[in-house]
Amino acid sequence: MSLETDGPGDSPHLVIYNRIWQSIAERKLRPGTRLKEEQLAEIFAVSRARVRQALSALERDGLVTLVPNRGAFVAEPSIEEARDIFFARRTIESQLVNRLCATRTPGAIARLEDHVALERDARKRGDKTDCVRLSGGFHLLIGELAGSPYLGDVLRDLVSRTSLILVMYQRRSQTDCGPDEHADIVAAIAAQDAATAMALMDHHMDHLEGTLDLDDELARQTDLKDLLQ
Ligand SMILES: [Zn+2]
Repeated sequence: MSLETDGPGDSPHLVIYNRIWQSIAERKLRPGTRLKEEQLAEIFAVSRARVRQALSALERDGLVTLVPNRGAFVAEPSIEEARDIFFARRTIESQLVNRLCATRTPGAIARLEDHVALERDARKRGDKTDCVRLSGGFHLLIGELAGSPYLGDVLRDLVSRTSLILVMYQRRSQTDCGPDEHADIVAAIAAQDAATAMALMDHHMDHLEGTLDLDDELARQTDLKDLLQ
């Protein structure tokens, strides 16, 4: 099926954007990987103009670096950028849980608890892709339940940038947040204990940032076809 023939609701460059974003977030597509225009055009059955549109949107969000005469690459954030991203997440997410403690509904708590249950299940099954996806998804859900669509977008941007940072700098033994700290945060929100929920989120971010290792070597051998098709 050609994506070019889809209706206006399924903008082809968004499909490409989302697929690449997801592959980065799930840590399949590694920093420094070259994203060849012609190969992407073939994989998604779209024109190179559409691919370029998706790549500029990814560049705007900090996920892709465009190098003149060389092409597009998955971005490689520096450790200074990594620290800034965690600073931003700590600031925003502790305020989001604070807000959620005040506004939370039984429905919101049920969704958070269901999500943590899915994380536990993925962990039990040993499904690493699901673990990573659901782990980031927990933070996006907090954003969705506590914030506006705008804050949801900001958080989505920060979570995807964090995925890049974790791919680059996290020790190999670590793969995701782990459901236990998420469960503690949900319990504090359910109890409307804002001080504890904020402290737990702060600790959770410290914990995640503490798993970064500057000596980690990068593996850049990736076949785009295996990942995106
Ligand atoms: Zn987490």
